[in-house]
Order: sequence, then structure tokens, then C-alpha cells
Amino acid sequence: MADFIDFFVIGEGEEVLLELLDSFRNWKRPGKEELLRQVATIPGVYVPSLYQVEYQADGLVKSITPTVPEASPTIQRRIVTKLPPPVTKPVVPYIEVVHDRGAIEIQRGCSRGCRFCQAGIIYRPVRERSQPEVVQAIGEIIANCGYSEVSLVSLSTSDYPHIDELVASLSHRYHNLALSLPSLYIDSFSVELMDSLPSHKKTGLTFAPEAGSGRLRRIINKNISEEELLKTAAAAFERGWTGFKLYFMLGLPAETMDDIEGIISLVDEVRALCRRAKGRTPQIRITLATFVPKPHTPFQWVAQESEQGLSAKHELLKQGLRRKGIRLSWQDPKVSLLEAALSRGDRR
Ligand code: SF4
Repeated sequence: MADFIDFFVIGEGEEVLLELLDSFRNWKRPGKEELLRQVATIPGVYVPSLYQVEYQADGLVKSITPTVPEASPTIQRRIVTKLPPPVTKPVVPYIEVVHDRGAIEIQRGCSRGCRFCQAGIIYRPVRERSQPEVVQAIGEIIANCGYSEVSLVSLSTSDYPHIDELVASLSHRYHNLALSLPSLYIDSFSVELMDSLPSHKKTGLTFAPEAGSGRLRRIINKNISEEELLKTAAAAFERGWTGFKLYFMLGLPAETMDDIEGIISLVDEVRALCRRAKGRTPQIRITLATFVPKPHTPFQWVAQESEQGLSAKHELLKQGLRRKGIRLSWQDPKVSLLEAALSRGDRR
């Protein structure tokens, strides 16, 4: 991307953005080179054009050397030690938008450690916003923007400490407020939590088992047993849900066709559970993502599955999940290959 991007901020942007704006304000146009040399002195900023890259005979990177004194030999990732104040006066769109609601980041980072997940690695360490701060900020969002729905944003919302107390306190304080809880972990607690929302509409729950077998889930460190998964589904059906969104990832390291068959069996078991509990077929929307090895994760050196391999797996699932109530969507393997090239490619 070095040919297209003038500079990258490595890490979190809230503090460094102000430093960049200072540099921009002091910049005497024209002459972009001068600006780039100035921003290169800001910790966390990487200016590709100010480095010379050499390669070994086998193609690996041999060295990355600064070509000007302003560029640092190593770039330190920027992190904010305390979450910055929440945005309570966002621009409110005057056309209909997909996520037409307020949002507050209640926690940054995730301690689950799934091995494919780049967000789990690059947003470390986990930092929470205090409950009083969340409650007050939501009051301000409602007053400033008029939203009647607010999303409690986090990589893993059910891991926020005492999330049940926070939800109860918000429901008690803001009677007409609908709360959206994205990114819930697969367990009965998440189902109870969703059920505790006074204005929930019991449309669908979203969970991400990611792989079709316990063996593969252990490999990727998504340690949910099949028993736990089915217990969660049963708890949801008991509480009135008849629909699910499920996310799976294809092309994971050490994945075999048995793991793909495992997705079909798992979905069949969930359907059977619902029919036993509710006497009807559940609506299940299944999204198939492709595993793309990402830098800084334990799987960063793993090969990307070929287009043919992915297509064969898609075909198996399309045939195996051709059932009433199931809707399947998947990512085009060509787009996944492009994503892999952008994730791990270098200047060549
Ligand atoms: S739980 Fe979600 S956010 Fe956390 S590491 Fe796993 S995939 Fe990433």
C-alpha cells in the first residue's frame, strides 16, 4: 500500500489525531515532503516513502532502513491508557441509515484470544468504561440526538463486567430506550441478558461458533463445546426465540471436510431442538466468512485456502443446508484472496 498511502498511524488514533492536526496546521504549503518528514517525528506514525526496504535472495524482508533522520527505525504502537470521553454529540444523519441508533463503546479489547482474530490482538489491553460514565453518556446521547435505541459496543459485550447490572440500570432509568447488544458470547447468560431487555422484540440472536467441530474450535481457541452450543440454543427456544444468525468461518487451519459436515450436523441439531421445543421450524441465517490469515495473530504465517478449495466447501454446505427456514450467504473467494493480499502483502 506504500504507493497509495502517505502515512499510517499504528495503533489507536484519538490522541495522535490531535498531534497530526498540529503538524498539518503548521505546514507551509506546497511541499508534501516537508509535511511527511514532520509527521514522521510523531510516535506511532509510519511514513513508507521515508524508508528503504531490502530483500533477501529467498524473498524475505532483509531490512527496513530510514532514509531521513526524522524517521524512527522502529514504530511504537499508540494506545490510549484510558478510554477517551464517549462521543455524545455525533452528527445525526438526516436520511435513513442502516444503523439508525446511538452507540457507546463500553469496552475496548477482548481477552478471549481466538487465534484467527486480529481485533482481539491489536486492541489489547482490555479497557472498560465505568458504569456511571456509560449511564450518563447515554442520557446525553438521548438528549442531544433524540435516539430511542442505543448500542452498547464492544468486541465481546457479554464480557463487560456486570453487564447484567448495567442493562438493568439503563432499563430502569430510561424506560423507552431500546438497547442493542452486539457481539455476545455463546452461553445461556447471553440469552438471559437479551431476555432481560424490556423492549426486545425477540427477532433473532446472533452467535459465532466459527467452526463445525469441537476439535477445530479448540484449534482456533474458540472453546465452546457442542453441548454448550446446544444448551444455549435450547435456552433461547425456551425463552421464545425461534430464529438465529450463525457465523462460521471456512478455510481455517487444519480444517477437513469432516469439519464442514460438522456445520451441517450442528445446524440440523439446532433445528431439531426448536421443533421439539416449539413445534415449528426455526429461521436460521448462516453467514460463511473466509479465514484470512492476519498479521500479528498466531495464524499469521498460515496459508490461505485456495479458491477451488473454498468453492468445494461452499458447494457442500449449499447442498447440505438446503432446508426449510435456512438462508445461507457467503463471501466470494476472490474477494477473500484480495483481502489476504492486502493483509499480508508487502511493497512488491
Ligand atoms: S471473542 Fe470475538 S473479538 Fe474476542 S478474540 Fe474471539 S473473535 Fe476476537
